[in-house]
Amino acid sequence: MIDLHSHTTASDGSLSPAELVALAAAAGVKVLGITDHDTIDGLAAARDAAAATGLVEIIPGVEFSAEYSPGTMHLLGYLIDPENGELLSALEEMRARRNTRNPRIVEALRGLGFEMTMEEVLAASRGSSIGRPHIAQVMVAKGYAQSVDDAFARWLDRGRPAYVAQARIEPAEAIRVIKAAGGVPVLAHPYQLKPASDSHLEEIVRGLCAAGLGGMEVWYSRHTAEMSAFYLALAERYGLVATGGSDFHGTPKPDIFLGTGTGSLRVPPETVANLRVKAARR
Ligand code: AMP
Ligand code: ZN
Ligand code: FE
Ligand code: FE
Repeated sequence: MIDLHSHTTASDGSLSPAELVALAAAAGVKVLGITDHDTIDGLAAARDAAAATGLVEIIPGVEFSAEYSPGTMHLLGYLIDPENGELLSALEEMRARRNTRNPRIVEALRGLGFEMTMEEVLAASRGSSIGRPHIAQVMVAKGYAQSVDDAFARWLDRGRPAYVAQARIEPAEAIRVIKAAGGVPVLAHPYQLKPASDSHLEEIVRGLCAAGLGGMEVWYSRHTAEMSAFYLALAERYGLVATGGSDFHGTPKPDIFLGTGTGSLRVPPETVANLRVKAARR
């Protein structure tokens, strides 16, 4: 089994890198991509744990949240050099912006009558990339929301009362930085762009390709077979590597399992070789 999209406690996952690797080994995931939001802090510990088990190969990755509206655009970077200075400083900048936004969200929630503090949010997180899921967890713990999903739907999502906009990296800049670090930039879960139509999505993909996009996430926990078939055809048309993964987070997304997603996820074995060829081609 291959799973190229997962999160650890370095961002908003509930398992530490070592725990995630242990789960992968137990679940039969042989190739594991770790793609934390705006940080690569989990990679070294994951690699150490993987080397110790000898059962799991780690594909180093990262997930950038890029500037886009009305939906969200996430760009995955695979096979990046975790020591690349340009990548590290771009990620540091992204986390600094989060650290400016997060207290404003907590302030907005307090203004709405919820008793909570940034200290509680920090206590709910274990890594360097802190975000809305941690805020949502505090709301759940205090009985203000039934689940992380519920907290997003009622308070935290764009258009909801405690939403605070945050400047994000431009897509072309994220693509440039990923490539500068030797990686392959991949458009994550395309449906989350909320394109107006199939041709609108194609237009967005064409623009990203002009900026250097290398792949597209075709297989994903929340894609239907029809969606995956459509994305695969699009990827092939634009010479993009088709990738896939569960977007496992642990408890924040309790219905998503490592390796299998919501049950039927299957990432073809040639995916990793395709990524390596793409990375080497430059
Ligand atoms: P942030 O990056 O801090 O703005 O938070 C966005 C992240 O929260 C996304 O990348 C997802 O991992 C997670 N997320 C977004 N919407 C939801 C939701 N409805 N339920 C649970 N997690 C969500
Ligand atoms: Zn996440
Ligand atoms: Fe994402
Ligand atoms: Fe993700």
